Amino acid sequence: MRSTMQDVPLLISRILTHGSTIHGKSQVTTWTGESEPQRRSFAEIGSRAAQLAHALRDLGIGEGDATGTLMWNNAEHVEAYLAIPSMGAVLHTLNLRLPPEQLVWIVNHAANRVIIANGSVLPLLAPLLPRLPTVEHVVVTGPGDRAPLAGAAVQVHEYEELTSGRPTTFDWPQLDERAAAALCYTSGTTGDPKGVVYSHRSVYLHSMQVNMAESMGLTDKDTTLVVVPQFHVNAWGLPHATFMTGVNMLMPDRFLQPGPLAEMIESERPSHAAAVPTIWQGLLAEVSARPRDLTSLHSVTIGGAACPPALMEAYDKLGVRLCQAWGMTEMSPLGTTSNPPGGLSDEEGWPYRVKQGRFPAAVEARLIGPDGSVLPWDGESAGELEVRGPWVAAAYYGGAHTSGEEQLVRPDEKFSEDGWLRTGDVGNISSEGYLTLTDRAKDVIKSGGEWISSVDLENALMAHPEVAEAAVVAVPDDRWGERPLATVVLKEGATADYAALKAFLARTVAKWQLPERWAVIQEVPKTSVGKFDKKVIRKRYADGELDVTKV
Ligand code: ADP
Repeated sequence: MRSTMQDVPLLISRILTHGSTIHGKSQVTTWTGESEPQRRSFAEIGSRAAQLAHALRDLGIGEGDATGTLMWNNAEHVEAYLAIPSMGAVLHTLNLRLPPEQLVWIVNHAANRVIIANGSVLPLLAPLLPRLPTVEHVVVTGPGDRAPLAGAAVQVHEYEELTSGRPTTFDWPQLDERAAAALCYTSGTTGDPKGVVYSHRSVYLHSMQVNMAESMGLTDKDTTLVVVPQFHVNAWGLPHATFMTGVNMLMPDRFLQPGPLAEMIESERPSHAAAVPTIWQGLLAEVSARPRDLTSLHSVTIGGAACPPALMEAYDKLGVRLCQAWGMTEMSPLGTTSNPPGGLSDEEGWPYRVKQGRFPAAVEARLIGPDGSVLPWDGESAGELEVRGPWVAAAYYGGAHTSGEEQLVRPDEKFSEDGWLRTGDVGNISSEGYLTLTDRAKDVIKSGGEWISSVDLENALMAHPEVAEAAVVAVPDDRWGERPLATVVLKEGATADYAALKAFLARTVAKWQLPERWAVIQEVPKTSVGKFDKKVIRKRYADGELDVTKV
């Protein structure tokens, strides 16, 4: 029997049209660091997105062309987010914190012809241009000296001049919902960047999931502070999801330090925020030193790395509820969210909150044991997590020089023969479908045939009142193969020594798992998206740069 339903493609232009009309009064507020933030309604964003699309078309951008953005979170970036895919081109968000070498590699791989850049990042972009032969146009927006572009062999345009005066509507094409909409390269925590190409359909469905109460569940009564960068997996889908339901956005632009973040929360009173644990650690230190009113924040989505339970507790005390989410660039990124099941008291709900969370209906999961067998969901059996679903990648982008099937690259270590994504994350799943991650496969410490979770040790250490941050990595050991090395950042004025820290760990950690190698460091090295960069710690250890004490 044939279905009798209409087959309407799921397109980003629909999200744009809907948001800018039905929710035309909702706002994108961009922090400027001056007395007044910039405020722009969704209706204005809709008109300006149409103007941007006209301008880009005149620059020669057509269907399927990857168009770069090198921008902070701000209203113009939202315009690009909506305009570029809606006109049939591909939004390519460039991570402005990547090492220059990687940026060059990525722009060339995607063959960007146009890059829209914030004025403040021109000192980063301009010196790279001679090595970016495909780039013909740079469109600049926002404050910042334009001088670095003087003499560059590209055409330079001012965003406002280029777009103003153009028609405020655009006849958005009826695209195939499976067409490419956005391109994002993984941040390369584990090797070369790999490009993930989202489709209109995957973005649309993912946005609906973000809006479900079990995920972020925001409405037009909410304002979300989008700290997670728009160059980090589509800011976790928020710019699209908000346009679907009229959620107001508060955009920090380049003001991502704890001080300004505290100030914008206090004055703009967002009800929700999204950021990685590092940001919340920094903000906690800030408000501990200079108390600020964070009480408008009813919920916070925290992900990208494991949320230390001690951090969750500290924010509970401030009346801010952190809700952990787990995902990946390859998953658009939303996988699990850690809301406890219904009917539980706060105390009963706690063990659920510290897990990575439950899978939504569209994301299927399975655990694969070391021998390749599928493991049961018993909350104990530990294996590598594999996932599949309509917003999960099936391949990586082969690059602009490829076409047809060649565009789809499926390295064995990432995609199973039967079409699942291998996440590289290790953990267990409970009978109720709650995921607990114990590590990344490559960060697990393999000691004498047993596995030690680096994340468990870090969380236990970070519960110590004098520890600001802790990162644990595997180091070679003659007897056991590998052993944990604990690197610790102490709070100011801390007096605890290694023996005391080890004794503290021994209260919750099995004896054979306790690290015997310790080092105090000034700061945990972070990746471009704020995660612990363990490969840097491992290298520092190997190069003898750490002052290691055996305890
Ligand atoms: P990269 O792989 O370049 O760091 P991603 O942002 O895609 O870029 O990282 C995804 C990975 O981040 C996941 O595979 C997982 O290891 C880690 N991660 C994300 N969220 C969580 C979380 N809530 N708890 C533990 N790990 C997480």
